[in-house]
Amino acid sequence: MLGTYNYGLVVISVLVAILASYTALDLATRISASRGRAARAWLIGGAFSMGSGIWSMHFLGMLAFSLPVPLGYDLPITLLSMVIAVVVSGFALHVVSQDSLSLRKLAIGGVIMGLGICSMHYTGMAAMQTHPHPTYDPLLFAASLAIAIAAALAALWIAFTLRAESEWTRYAKLGSAIIMGFAITGMHYTGMAAAHFAPDTICVSGPLVDNSWMAGTLTGTTLVILLVTLTLSVIDSRMISRTAGMAASLQRANDELQRIALHDPLTKLPNRVLLEDRIEQAIAHAERSKVNCAVLFVDLDRFKVVNDSLGHFVGDELLRGVASRLQGLVRGEDTVSRMGGDEFVLLLREVEGTPDALDVASKALAALREPFRVHQQELYVTPSIGIAVYPEHGNTAQMLITRADAAMYNVKKGGRNDVRVFATEMSTFFPERLMLENDLRRALERHEFELHYQPKVELADGSVVGMEALVRWRHPRKGLVSPDQFIPLAEESGLIVPIGRWVIEEACRQNKAWQDAGMPHLRVAVNISGLQFRQKDLLESIGYALGSSGLAPECLEVEITESVVMQNASDAIVTLERLSAMGVHVSIDDFGTGYSSLSYLKRFPIDKLKIDRSFIRDVSSDMEDAAIVRATIGLAHNLRLRVVAEGVETAEQLEFLRALGCDEYQGYYKSKPVAPAEFERVLRAELGLLPLTQTSVAA
Ligand code: C2E
Ligand code: MG
Ligand code: MG
Repeated sequence: MLGTYNYGLVVISVLVAILASYTALDLATRISASRGRAARAWLIGGAFSMGSGIWSMHFLGMLAFSLPVPLGYDLPITLLSMVIAVVVSGFALHVVSQDSLSLRKLAIGGVIMGLGICSMHYTGMAAMQTHPHPTYDPLLFAASLAIAIAAALAALWIAFTLRAESEWTRYAKLGSAIIMGFAITGMHYTGMAAAHFAPDTICVSGPLVDNSWMAGTLTGTTLVILLVTLTLSVIDSRMISRTAGMAASLQRANDELQRIALHDPLTKLPNRVLLEDRIEQAIAHAERSKVNCAVLFVDLDRFKVVNDSLGHFVGDELLRGVASRLQGLVRGEDTVSRMGGDEFVLLLREVEGTPDALDVASKALAALREPFRVHQQELYVTPSIGIAVYPEHGNTAQMLITRADAAMYNVKKGGRNDVRVFATEMSTFFPERLMLENDLRRALERHEFELHYQPKVELADGSVVGMEALVRWRHPRKGLVSPDQFIPLAEESGLIVPIGRWVIEEACRQNKAWQDAGMPHLRVAVNISGLQFRQKDLLESIGYALGSSGLAPECLEVEITESVVMQNASDAIVTLERLSAMGVHVSIDDFGTGYSSLSYLKRFPIDKLKIDRSFIRDVSSDMEDAAIVRATIGLAHNLRLRVVAEGVETAEQLEFLRALGCDEYQGYYKSKPVAPAEFERVLRAELGLLPLTQTSVAA
């Protein structure tokens, strides 16, 4: 008995197969793009929708087939075939969503899936309740099996390869869905063709439902399931691509931030941070490959003149021009960076030795010798270049930079526009200074400062009438550092303000402690630096130091150098008047080193002049110095100012000053500046007082 086909249903079954295949491919992408619970949900939901898609294709195929006798189906067996379809689909999706798909896995998966499809098909056939059961043509049966396995293999491989998401894969998916759709239906109809129904076949149960109604419902339901799945999948993929888009723009913003942080905005060259990193890398490379690397510190000579006379605009253009010429000199692996200002550093990643570096340096000299054209002007710059080579001159980025810098500095001192390689005797000044500045930042919080005291002596009777507090820095490695070495640094960095504040407070506290311990009430002098003097809150911090220590204002004196007072005379007068009004004494330090005249100084409310020790040194032998000192003392006395001589070291100097009518002196002749405990001991001995235990007074 020959069956006939309803070709409309056949076409629909093919379309359903294609749609189911497309959905399956899409799901493979979803599952592999998701993780954890989401991936599992996609796998289960996907297995169900893909399984029902394949199964309904198969069932539609069955419905498309009719025998001259009406056909009916056994419900449980039909459902079983559907369950098989869902399980097979789940298995297939699981296989293709693995991170990798080996040939072995593909083969095993394909065979299992092919067998699964076949068993779904033939189980579905078995649900047809005909009598007798159809017989199968072995050849066609084998063919259907082969087609099923081949289709499954192809399907798995395609789904695995196409699961990555992109515009192109959408079309590729559609194409392969069509092929897969035909392969699956091909298997189905081959399987149908394998079945032979005996001429006397009858249906045992009779049709349970109307064929076309069944087909309609089935197609409708399947379409809905597949479309819902597809829609969800598309929405999910959009969300993922939006998140991916956001992540990408975040990444871009991040990259940009990083670029800004590591480059100089003006020249776009790497900045110091990036340079140091590159040098460290170059050192590591040089160490491994047993080669050298070199750092060239390039500083433009007299660039400030260009900047100041022609403006920043021209200066910036010039720097850009220099940057690009320097870049033209080096190899791609080398680095040209800008440290700021007119300083550039070149890193030569691999050199044979110093001669190579000298070679590049002289090329740099030559390259910069050509004039720069900036805004219709011809500008000439010359560089000073210092060289340091790894491993000879250092083995850290910091060391190589500072040493190249020191060599450059040496060129500057020697007349500029030249190249020099680092040598040990150059290092004394420069790196020291840099290291000190770093340490200085932490010195306050680490309590590394202390005050030493030098007595001020009344010349007439030799009694101690006061003391000057002189700051010392007890450096953890260098020991006691003198103020000449760090006060200028502290001024430049602004650190002098908090340091100075500490000095005032500590001097007040110590003086009050001595007074409370029964020592005579002396006046303590503290030095105020220029920057400190210009601080708005100077008076407040002095007031605070007095208030918190309980020291009487008359027992405090501030020493300000002549040049600081003269720098901004009108403001200085106001500040000094307020100090006087508070009762604090004021003396002019280092007098004679500045440009002021005494007649000018009389407008200032001051109490004392301290004659700079450079005049005292030769006062007894140098007629001119003696004349200056004599005139100064005379004029000061006219203005009712007391005069203090600094740096008295010998009895001869002392006698001379006495003859000139000087009021007080300070100097090694009496005592060097000493630690508080020592100062206290000296003073007690002087006054015939009993010594106190150190801890009672000196903190
Ligand atoms: P200055 O205020 O003129 O201090 C006098 C300096 O002369 C001190 O040097 C002192 O040790 C030194 N001296 C004293 N007697 C003699 C002597 O007989 N012969 C010689 N050759 N030198 C003598 P020091 O302590 O090294 O201080 C140097 C400078 O540092 C001070 O000069 C002062 O300008 C500054 N300084 C010290 N302490 C402070 C401070 O707390 N704050 C500020 N802003 N500056 C300070
Ligand atoms: Mg002083
Ligand atoms: Mg002085």
